[in-house]
Amino acid sequence: MSARSEGTGTACAYRRTGTIPVYGTDRLGELTYREREVLLLLGTGLGNRRLASELGIAERTVKAHIARIAEKLERETRLQVSVLSALSHDDLCVDPSCPGRHSVAPPGALSAFAA
Ligand SMILES: [Zn+2]
Repeated sequence: MSARSEGTGTACAYRRTGTIPVYGTDRLGELTYREREVLLLLGTGLGNRRLASELGIAERTVKAHIARIAEKLERETRLQVSVLSALSHDDLCVDPSCPGRHSVAPPGALSAFAA
């Protein structure tokens, strides 16, 4: 039996693709307040129309914010930014009653990949 067939896991997708979802979570400070607001909303998975409605801005403005956020955090796709948002929720959200608090990327998680 090879090591690859043991357990329920598979070969590391992060290592395979060289794409680590938590990269960028340490650069949230480079975002403006509005960009952090858009980023947090993006983690809900909702579309631009709903995000625009929530923020009281135009859809094209939402798209522009997302493009700028992706550029600052060096993410290539909207989905990568969304995943990063979910991983960063606890850092972005200041609501003490937030029902979504969790620690997907605890302190030190990023350094484990820095090789
Ligand atoms: Zn929250």
